[in-house]
Amino acid sequence: MSNAMFDWTCVYRTDNPLEAHIVLGLLTQARLKTHVEGAVLTTALGEVPFCQETIKIFVCAIKVPEAEEILVNYQQNNLSEDWQCRGCSEHNGSGFQYCWHCGKSYDESK
Ligand SMILES: [Zn+2]
Repeated sequence: MSNAMFDWTCVYRTDNPLEAHIVLGLLTQARLKTHVEGAVLTTALGEVPFCQETIKIFVCAIKVPEAEEILVNYQQNNLSEDWQCRGCSEHNGSGFQYCWHCGKSYDESK
């Protein structure tokens, strides 16, 4: 019997470690188990993850629809302007809905 339902499936790829970090955060918040290839990401505050290769984020095959919903929301909610986090004063690019530094959302920082 096939175990394909539990295979890791790539749901996101990016060359931007910060973006990967945020996407991972969103998936983790939704309690999805993730697997990352291409980078060693750190979640420690104040440390910027860095890598030079394409990062691939995987979730369990049966969780792909859930992950895709999160990613679609993430991409639709991309902001048009840069913004500054109210929690830590970090400057965030328009592509980030959450502060990459402390994880506070844009809505909380308005
Ligand atoms: Zn912040």
